[in-house]
Amino acid sequence: MWGTEVHIRGWLTGLIVFLLAPCLLFASLWFHSKFEDVNSIDRSLAGLNLIQALGPLMQEKALTGTVKQPTELLVRQLADFDVSAREQSLVADLSGFMNEQGIPDALRKARSLASSIAQHSRLSSSSSFETSEFPHLINDTLLSVVIETSVMVNNGEMLAGKDAINTWDKMLVPVQAGQFKVAADTASRATKENFMDLQGPKADSLRDKAAAYRSANLAYQSAGSKLLSSTIKGTTGADIANGELNKVQPDFVRAIFNLWQETVDYLHADLQHQRAETMFAVALAGLVGGLVIIAAFAIAVALSRALADRTQQEFENLGFHDPLTGLPNRRALLKTLRGLSDRETPNRIGLVILDLRHFKKINDLFGDQSGDSILRDVAEQLVQFAEAEDFLCRTGGTEFMLLRPDLTDSASFEDTPARIIRELGRERQIEGQKLVLESNAGLLISNAGDPITDQLLVDAELALRSAKQKAPRKVERFTSEMRVAFEENGEIAKQLLRAMNNGEIVPWFQPQVDVHTGEIIGAEALVRWLDHQTVRFPGYFLPAAEEAGYMDRIEAIVRQKTLELASEFTGKTRRTVHFGLNISADLLSNASAVGALHRHVLDAGLNPSMISLEILEAVMIDEDKAKPIKENIAHLSDLGFFIELDDFGTGHSSISSLRDLKIDRVKIDRSFVSGVDTNKDLQKFTSALINLAKSLDISVLAEGVETPGERDWLARNGCDVIQGFLVSKAVPEVELAAMILKKNFTVQSNPFFNEKSATA
Ligand code: C2E
Ligand code: CA
Ligand code: CA
Repeated sequence: MWGTEVHIRGWLTGLIVFLLAPCLLFASLWFHSKFEDVNSIDRSLAGLNLIQALGPLMQEKALTGTVKQPTELLVRQLADFDVSAREQSLVADLSGFMNEQGIPDALRKARSLASSIAQHSRLSSSSSFETSEFPHLINDTLLSVVIETSVMVNNGEMLAGKDAINTWDKMLVPVQAGQFKVAADTASRATKENFMDLQGPKADSLRDKAAAYRSANLAYQSAGSKLLSSTIKGTTGADIANGELNKVQPDFVRAIFNLWQETVDYLHADLQHQRAETMFAVALAGLVGGLVIIAAFAIAVALSRALADRTQQEFENLGFHDPLTGLPNRRALLKTLRGLSDRETPNRIGLVILDLRHFKKINDLFGDQSGDSILRDVAEQLVQFAEAEDFLCRTGGTEFMLLRPDLTDSASFEDTPARIIRELGRERQIEGQKLVLESNAGLLISNAGDPITDQLLVDAELALRSAKQKAPRKVERFTSEMRVAFEENGEIAKQLLRAMNNGEIVPWFQPQVDVHTGEIIGAEALVRWLDHQTVRFPGYFLPAAEEAGYMDRIEAIVRQKTLELASEFTGKTRRTVHFGLNISADLLSNASAVGALHRHVLDAGLNPSMISLEILEAVMIDEDKAKPIKENIAHLSDLGFFIELDDFGTGHSSISSLRDLKIDRVKIDRSFVSGVDTNKDLQKFTSALINLAKSLDISVLAEGVETPGERDWLARNGCDVIQGFLVSKAVPEVELAAMILKKNFTVQSNPFFNEKSATA
């Protein structure tokens, strides 16, 4: 899921880049073209400025025939403008214009110079649609009118100065007049057409100048027609009527240049306007583009944040859920529990913690897949027990928890774990085989007003642990004693480790005597912790040792000492003394530990028959564990060990298991011995136990015999051996040796007893 998100993110980034890249490319091209536009407008403006600077010079030439020197600035600007084009040709053209004496020729040169500048500055292409004809007006049409008027004036002067007017002279004026008329009318029409649709005060003033031009043109043309008719009629220069033409010509020239100047100004303003518009578009596009990019980035950031959040969310979900069953997990439970701790009025909560037994075996038998599907089934079954507000989760491999956040009906909740265990314990079919699930449960109900903390989970687990230790299908409710014991055990375990390393852990021995002769025929090794001046008993430290996993080491110490002692006794007593070792279920479940025990006994030079292995009847209650344990017991028996069933009567061993296991002796539990001589009901039960063993030819030992009355009753009712405070408590090995010396006389005088007694 995490990986998919990363992919989506990559795609998203790709998409944004994919979309943004062409946008940026397009934008940069667009900006480039806009800046080009501005550049070419600037160049056109520069050209137009140069042309405009020529205006007064041309007007001066047309009116006076001479021109004063152009400013240096103009020459330099012209030169700069020309750099990329023909070598200094514009400047040359300018001086050509300046140096030309004839007015029309000078003006023609000026016109061609203006045209060149217009071409260089691409004036036409920079003009807008409405001013598209303006460059032509400026560079050609209007200047042509000026040129033609000058030619006309020149011709009039020339004819007026002649003595005789010949036919060619007569032809010259109308031809010239026709050329003038074409030029003047073209200008008239062009200004009318092009200025008609223009808007604004500048357009009005442009039209005013055009009107002034037209009226000056009319006046000039009427003066021109006089020249024309006088030329046609006249025969000498004196007949030529060019006086009026000469008079109106300067006004006409001024009107033309006024119009010219106004047109140049208008085009100038138009170019400026276009430049400003382009710049505005660029600025706007820049702004919009910037905003778009910022928005795109903001969107990208927001999207990737949203994705990151979702990823986080999904990751958290994953972190809060058990993928196998889909139930929430332990983290989720902790979160929920912590949520409850914030409540203003802490209601009582209820917790059931459930664990399945021997699940590893189910996995081994049916395969992990079936194991998984059983766990899913269990989860579904558990859902049936959850109410609407309940929180059900899988907290470990085979561990589930049910939390009831507001416990109102605690009585029904207390029943829940037992009902769950029953429901799960119904027979089910797995791959055609029958299977019965066994489980244990811990129950916890918080006290009203108590704060809700993580500790509740630990407490519930303690209850579960206690239930597991007791029996399959057992439910234990948490009590504060469990926590005290647990904490103490932790403390005890720490000190126990030190004690083991310091040799403070030793076996003491409780003698077992023949009930008829009083001879010591055996001794049970019982572990003691010689903690400085205090002798500590198993009840104090074995539970802690079990939890800390120290049992193996403790039993190894006990066994080591016991075997040493047993080998020292070998062959030195009249009757063989059996040494009894208490054997834990752990050892019996482990074939290699069984093998090690056997080697250990042989290495000590002992016959296994001298060692009695005390096996708790209870270790066989757990049916699943029972099978390998039974096999190992049978194996130990075959190896020649003396097998004893400890705490007989408290467990559920069947007649068949007594026989199959080749039990050599049963140890009747103290609870069937205390007061047996006086309690009639107990007598029935105890004698039934004894008879059961006897019927299978199994020897009987009674534990915890404290009174002579009990001893006598036991002796009368078939018991063979007794062990109990009546004879002796468990004692250190030297004391045992002394007792044996007294009650089971030795084969020969034994330096061992003397030695030990001496050191004791
Ligand atoms: P257990 O095997 O049933 O041992 C008999 C317990 O009864 C011993 O308690 C013994 O001191 C006590 N007892 C014997 N005679 C009398 C009597 O007349 N009256 C009374 N009231 N009690 C009597 P202890 O030594 O405290 O041992 C308790 C349990 O600790 C043992 O029960 C045994 O299950 C376990 N244990 C002791 N040593 C070992 C060991 O090395 N390995 C293992 N696995 N368990 C051990
Ligand atoms: Ca025992
Ligand atoms: Ca016992």
